[in-house]
Amino acid sequence: MTLQSRIEAAAALDAAFASLDLAGRLQLVASLGGRAVFTTSLGIEDQVITAAIALSGAEIEVATLDTGRLFKETADLISETEERFGISIRRFHPAQDDIDAYAAKYGLNGFYESVEARHACCHVRKLVPLAKALEGASAWVTGLRRSQSGNRATTPFAEYDAERQLIKVNPLADWSLEEINAYVEKEAVPTNPLHKRGYPSIGCEPCTRAIKPGEPERAGRWWWENDEKRECGLHVPEAALPSLNSSSL
Ligand code: SF4
Repeated sequence: MTLQSRIEAAAALDAAFASLDLAGRLQLVASLGGRAVFTTSLGIEDQVITAAIALSGAEIEVATLDTGRLFKETADLISETEERFGISIRRFHPAQDDIDAYAAKYGLNGFYESVEARHACCHVRKLVPLAKALEGASAWVTGLRRSQSGNRATTPFAEYDAERQLIKVNPLADWSLEEINAYVEKEAVPTNPLHKRGYPSIGCEPCTRAIKPGEPERAGRWWWENDEKRECGLHVPEAALPSLNSSSL
């Protein structure tokens, strides 16, 4: 697909999604031509999308970023999901040289010390592997939902991602958590046992805590930071993140 056709396809998907169910949305993405990749964090929304891809037969690759700091429950869920749906989830890992360079500069757990150090760790462990996962793709499917946080409240169904030059597709943008839970129950989708222990949003183990009653869904992510709009750069351009100079890792 040419750049112009990707821009036009993104607008067309955004307009079409409202009247389609999840399977229909995924089939439409697969029908665009080119390579479509869904990156899963194994969170409950992403488990719904993985299930829908497998059950609908939509030709969309499923990949995950294995940061090396995942909860054991999350790592176990990768294999369980593959078995449940008879699919293969491609793992993308950070480069050991990058991890060593990060540890030499900031310390292995240096992400607690500053926002800059935290974004540098996410860059090495998430963003570089993400770039590998999306290499040559024309569409990137994500599990973003508008009601996950104030920062995601305006998430479109689809948009042209100028930073990565592909169509970014959010087929669950308008879903509520109740709808997610209902789909999980109906299709017997395996989910991370941590969700039942107070973790609605699960990232790397050292950077995720359980939330308290009444807290927003993503309050347990990088909880030691004050910024209400905490993100890791996967869904916000790195240039927009505070204090990150990618040359500093
Ligand atoms: S979430 Fe934490 S451990 Fe994972 S990549 Fe980001 S800073 Fe590093």
